[in-house]
Amino acid sequence: MDAKAAAQERLNSIRQSILDLSHKIHANPEIANEEVQAAAWISEALAEAGFKVENSYCGLATAFSARIGRGPLHVAICAEYDALPGIGHACGHNIIAASAVGAGIAAARVADEVGLTISVLGTPAEELGNAGGKILLLEGGGFAGVHAAMMIHPAPFDTATPKIIAASMFEVRYTGKEAHASAYPERGINAADALTIAQTAIGLLRQHILPTDRIHGITTSGGDAPNIVPAYAAARYIVRGQTLEELERLRPRVYRCFQAGALATGSTLEIIGGDKPYSEMIHDSDIAALYRRNAELLGRSFVDQDAASSRAAASTDMGNVSRCVPSIHPMISINSLPAVNHQREFTARCVTESADKAVFDGALAMAWTAIDLAMGSGMRNRLLSTGTAKP
Ligand SMILES: [Zn+2]
Ligand SMILES: [Zn+2]
Repeated sequence: MDAKAAAQERLNSIRQSILDLSHKIHANPEIANEEVQAAAWISEALAEAGFKVENSYCGLATAFSARIGRGPLHVAICAEYDALPGIGHACGHNIIAASAVGAGIAAARVADEVGLTISVLGTPAEELGNAGGKILLLEGGGFAGVHAAMMIHPAPFDTATPKIIAASMFEVRYTGKEAHASAYPERGINAADALTIAQTAIGLLRQHILPTDRIHGITTSGGDAPNIVPAYAAARYIVRGQTLEELERLRPRVYRCFQAGALATGSTLEIIGGDKPYSEMIHDSDIAALYRRNAELLGRSFVDQDAASSRAAASTDMGNVSRCVPSIHPMISINSLPAVNHQREFTARCVTESADKAVFDGALAMAWTAIDLAMGSGMRNRLLSTGTAKP
């Protein structure tokens, strides 16, 4: 039996258990850095399959590393498993986690014979938008020795090289002073007004930014009662640009809008976070082409990114990985339309028959791609000679 057939046979034998894992994670959504159960379930499944597991990897409580094989080419498969506040697994990270487990176990079946070392890396807190798990793992040397990295992400369409732009999330806090809003308003400093001014300034700024830039946010605190002048207001914003460079050009302009609110009202401003932005994704076109061919062999059809949506552009800390290691982050269809990511309706679509098929196809396409990387001498030599991720 050839290596790919052997990997497929192994995946078939664990089909039900990886689908059960996907459903179990989906039924117990845990938000960023609180993915205690998901991390435990996933790493236990890998330990049972013979992987050597290291929990709390690089000091991150809900990260793990699971490694198997002794081949020279070290491929990492990234598992995400954080949910979104309030709407559960509306980004389908249960599918990412289960497919990573499936891919790891399927590739492990032939790892030594084709010359692979396989790591499944549990990477928490992708949804944060700043200092995501992969960024902290990269800083901690968690990708050291890895020659190539991959994961799949559920979406309405299959795309091999989706548009993934840079992003930076930060929190804004204004502090003013309370006062009776009617009896002694002149003694108050209105922190909520500061936020209103900032939002107005950002609205005006939008005319003068690149069409590919993004600025979006929520108010997380804006006062407690209409008869108390708000002494505190807070917001969380994400700024995005096509590249880290474009992002860094935009970010100070947005900060100035927030400073305008402080200046006008006399509030004090504090900006927290934004220090560990997500990079745009540098897709490895060779690995992406191999993944696409393998997925097409499973009957999947890919759409041109622009046909899917010329506007669609998300961000992920896999972008930061792609700066250090040749990487791919294909989107895999769960046939969700009209539902799209980060909608409640999408949450419901992440445990359907199409979602389960995505878990299985994604796992097999990744396992086959890892085998291709090890067995194609040109590809293998290129990856081995590029060197591995530095700590
Ligand atoms: Zn998401
Ligand atoms: Zn996601």
